[in-house]
Amino acid sequence: MTSSSINAAEILFDVRRVTRRFGGLVAVNEVSLSVARGECISVIGPNGAGKSTLFNLLTGIDTPDAGEVRFRGEDVTGMAPEQLAARGVARTFQHGRVFGNLSVLDNVLIGAHARLAMTRRGWPVVGAFAEVLRALAAPGTVRREDAALREEVTTLLARFGTRLAPRIDQPAHSLSYANRRRVEIARALALRPQILVLDEPTAGMNESETAEMLELILELKRDGLTMLLIEHKLELVMRLSDRVLVLDDGRKIASGLPNEVRNDPAVIEAYLGNRQVGAHAVRNETAAA
Ligand code: ADP
Ligand code: MG
Repeated sequence: MTSSSINAAEILFDVRRVTRRFGGLVAVNEVSLSVARGECISVIGPNGAGKSTLFNLLTGIDTPDAGEVRFRGEDVTGMAPEQLAARGVARTFQHGRVFGNLSVLDNVLIGAHARLAMTRRGWPVVGAFAEVLRALAAPGTVRREDAALREEVTTLLARFGTRLAPRIDQPAHSLSYANRRRVEIARALALRPQILVLDEPTAGMNESETAEMLELILELKRDGLTMLLIEHKLELVMRLSDRVLVLDDGRKIASGLPNEVRNDPAVIEAYLGNRQVGAHAVRNETAAA
């Protein structure tokens, strides 16, 4: 192997000047981004900056009005979420999405079943979900396969320490918010993704839950998993990220190493500037009252 083939990291996402408008509002404005295999990249920025919209464009939940999304060299712009999932893009949502009436185990089995169905048939995850429903009803062949999958899922859940393992048969709706988010990540991992896309994985978590999530993400990173995440807690961003991308008002205002970005005047302005605007507005209201 030549040194260049060792050093040249494979580009997973190559996003070129994507734009998404909602009426007159430009939620994402000509944003470009590339993610190489093994990288952990954080997207930060004030509320309403366009972070979740950008993630929706990358994961097929939404389609850009302009620009291009390439994944491993293929133009995937406008593809459906299940097509992207079949290519190895797994995600979690800002407000968490688990099947409340299904057990922890079955929620995560959905991810594993989806992966198997995709490997067998190419891609249709819609078919995979139908398969999961059959699996839950458990006729013979599926049940045999289930035994292996259950073992796999149990091993996967062990990553979450004692948080999920004792609750494996409980319905997801009975779990704490933090645990439901862990289930969602476990389900995404069961897809054995090429990249894990996390929208605010620690939102609504207290300090110790956040610390645990940080440890989990660091562990996934050590395993070589590529990750793209939105995160508000800057301390976490600094510890996790190889690179940081900063959005404000739909535009990319900075990107680079965590420390470079932290000291970037435009970033300080976007964060502190907004806060001052808020404080100023309050002062004005008080003055007017
Ligand atoms: P962030 O995740 O950075 O907080 P979002 O991507 O959720 O920001 O939103 C960016 C902007 O786009 C916000 O002004 C939001 O109100 C708007 N927006 C997001 N989704 C929609 C939608 N489906 N329809 C209309 N406006 C939207
Ligand atoms: Mg958001």
